[in-house]
Amino acid sequence: MSEERPEPATDRPRVRRLDDATIASVAAGEVITRPADVVVELLENALDAGATRIEVVVGGDGTDRIRVRDDGLGMDRRDAELAVERHTTSKLAADEPVAGGGTLGFRGEALASIATVATLELVTNDGGPRGTRVVAAGGPGADRVEAAGRGPGTTVTVRELFAGTPARRESLGTSQTEFARVSDSVSRYALVRPDVAITLTHDGTTVFSTPGTGDVADALLGVYDRQVASRTTSLDAAKRIESDAGEAGGELTIEGALVQPSITRARRDHVYVAVDGRPVRSAPLQRAVVDGYGDLIADDRAPIAVLSLSLPPSWADHNVHPRKRTVRLRSTADVADAVSGAVRDALSTADRRRAADLSMDLDDALEPAGEADSAFDDVRVLGQFRELYVLCEFDDELLVVDQHAAHERVNYERLRGAVSGTTPTARIDPPESVSLTPAQYAAVESYGEDLAALGYDLDPFGETTVRVRTVPAPMGRAAAPESVRDAVDALRHGDSPTDRRDALLKDLACHPSLKAGDELSDAAATTLVERLGACENPYACPHGRPTVLTIDEETLVRGFGRRSTRLD
Ligand code: ADP
Ligand code: MG
Repeated sequence: MSEERPEPATDRPRVRRLDDATIASVAAGEVITRPADVVVELLENALDAGATRIEVVVGGDGTDRIRVRDDGLGMDRRDAELAVERHTTSKLAADEPVAGGGTLGFRGEALASIATVATLELVTNDGGPRGTRVVAAGGPGADRVEAAGRGPGTTVTVRELFAGTPARRESLGTSQTEFARVSDSVSRYALVRPDVAITLTHDGTTVFSTPGTGDVADALLGVYDRQVASRTTSLDAAKRIESDAGEAGGELTIEGALVQPSITRARRDHVYVAVDGRPVRSAPLQRAVVDGYGDLIADDRAPIAVLSLSLPPSWADHNVHPRKRTVRLRSTADVADAVSGAVRDALSTADRRRAADLSMDLDDALEPAGEADSAFDDVRVLGQFRELYVLCEFDDELLVVDQHAAHERVNYERLRGAVSGTTPTARIDPPESVSLTPAQYAAVESYGEDLAALGYDLDPFGETTVRVRTVPAPMGRAAAPESVRDAVDALRHGDSPTDRRDALLKDLACHPSLKAGDELSDAAATTLVERLGACENPYACPHGRPTVLTIDEETLVRGFGRRSTRLD
């Protein structure tokens, strides 16, 4: 332990202890609360070390064993020993503010925190003749330091996570849930760092693997599937942004890939955003991406997209969350605008046309809903405005009907009426294979019964693929086999099966609905409005947006300065 080696002749930054003032300015809090946190910290260290290949190996829920192996810079003996102490880092220069710009790590607490709740073994070599093994367990600081054989790079193995903190261990979810979190996290990094080959192995099976070509589409192929990867549009934009006061402006670059709008998801968690190389959860930025797709996708659907933002210096502060999962931006609104604009520009007219093709066949969608009376029985259709709205005369009111929202409501109520209790199903023959993300796949096991109750009969098939034998089919309108992805996502996010059934009906109601931009004959428009009037709640779409706005004649009378409603 005492043996001192000469400093290597490299200009690599050395590990040093942070001073008290810096330590005090770090966003403090518990850093390691579950296995995925360990994986993220080790992955970030490997990326900071300039690795080109990273292997993540997880056993069970991750508490037994997590191993991350990289081919990065490695450490010499002195640095390796220091690295497992609290507040030691090579990533923050003495005079640098704590904001986490250039590197993913900057607080020097991850390895020490892991060693506090687990047994950590680090084997590393910075290219010298021998490597070093450091073991730290039950607290920060090395318990053992010895020479070890290893080529350049670093392997960190974490065992017996939370063995000494039973409460922490008990607060974990099932093995599938914890592993799903791990695989979600690793996917995020794999997608925003397509230049690094990242492999995730679980209980001896390769869950996914990206090739490290630098192309996001290749990474999408690793994490998702061929269908998704083959329908991407790449995005590479640079925009100048100014802050409110005009000072500290600079260039924002946005790179990534947009999956074409013909493939969508029910939730925004397939919209991946990274700021300065770190995947962040930012609702405003995810929303900005969705906004950029505009009306290419239905309002309640979300795209799959991967965007990496690089901001001007001092625009992002990553030191606001103990686990660095969120970021504070100087002006979120300006960045969000730039993102929406870049996404909009990147989606070509070809994408727009393709989306329009998806809108459905009218006759099929307008089957009679029943004999119920319509609230809009004597409505007279005047015409269509911008292929979005149907204008109608109704008593002394002018109705403006949002045709898409109206159609959703009509379909939804018909479907809901048809499904009481059990969901009718339709057989898919031959069964269709649907590839899932590893996290979704893990959830299929946990939620098998709920999925069956919803009408999905599934068989595992290959690594992360299921074969779909039956799908829910209320009123003979069969859900697409791929809808199992949304169902699984919803259940994973805590929706009850009843919520999910209702959401599924809303989705089924929505998918075939008239898209904005569909031309309607007056006869079809009349049928639509009458059907809407027959609904239990004609005035809102299933997602709660209004279907009809009314302008009464009084408004026009006043607006035009007429004295009465009579023509004179
Ligand atoms: P931080 O990443 O915030 O600096 P960590 O506790 O995660 O803090 O790591 C401490 C130091 O150990 C790092 O600054 C880095 O110098 C070194 N280190 C950790 N992991 C690796 C690795 N995989 N390869 C090379 N150096 C590493
Ligand atoms: Mg770190």
